[in-house]
Amino acid sequence: MLSYDVFVNDPPPQDGLLPNGQPKRFSPTASTLIYGAEDAVLTDPGLTADQARVLGDWVAGKDRNLTDIFITHGHGDHWFAAGLLAERFGARVVASAGTIAQMHGSVAARPLLWDKVYPGMIPPAPVTAMTVPGNRFTLEGHDLVIVEVGHTDSDDTSVLHVPGLGLVVAGDSIYNGVHMYLAQRAVGGFGPWRDAIGKVEALGPRHIVAGHQNSQLDDDAKRTIAETRQYLDDAEELLRSQTTAVGFFNVKLERYPNHLGRMILWVSASALYGVREHPGQDAGRIILASWF
Ligand SMILES: [Zn+2]
Repeated sequence: MLSYDVFVNDPPPQDGLLPNGQPKRFSPTASTLIYGAEDAVLTDPGLTADQARVLGDWVAGKDRNLTDIFITHGHGDHWFAAGLLAERFGARVVASAGTIAQMHGSVAARPLLWDKVYPGMIPPAPVTAMTVPGNRFTLEGHDLVIVEVGHTDSDDTSVLHVPGLGLVVAGDSIYNGVHMYLAQRAVGGFGPWRDAIGKVEALGPRHIVAGHQNSQLDDDAKRTIAETRQYLDDAEELLRSQTTAVGFFNVKLERYPNHLGRMILWVSASALYGVREHPGQDAGRIILASWF
């Protein structure tokens, strides 16, 4: 018999203001502990050394032997703290081959992005993740299945399906009450992300743990899937009706007044309009610049 519990971290304070004058603040990120009578598996352990300590204390309080730490996708906010947790609990770090390739890319980009946003706060993050045969591993005899869903808010993303719990740990394929990171879809559009949502839905989950979520909300699969699709529909409509990034930002705020992670909304708007307005320029540089 497996159970699960979710820990949602607090984004660290950072410098800078949004167009509406509010302080910039990153999105809360969720870690899931799936556990049996003795062993446990943790997902997406966060970014900073502080987050690793707080999450590690929460995990220790569950009094289980942590065997594996699973990473859903390559973005540093989901795994740069993995090494500290792996060391503290003697756990293995597991990911798909595609995610491991993306993790190397995130390490290369780190000095240009995360270390500028959070100077001195992020621990060393060598890529120690390994694949597992057939993208499957077990927890006390129960299957945990890594399902590759492709492009969502980054490339080569995956989810963890726990059939025995009706659970999908969705990484950034599904969001829950938090603004979605649309910047990397400034090239290629939202079609591949819609396909990924369909792959999650086809697993038939009852519960979805979104990688970024408002901890006050439930984890109902139907609602989070529908709201993730709706957010993309809204974004497409606003890209047609709004002529500027600030316009996109303001209307999204009006439509989603309770969503967290407004910094990511502004990064997304800046990148989507920046790429559109400068078709001859390197999109990767425009997306990176939209963070600052
Ligand atoms: Zn993320």
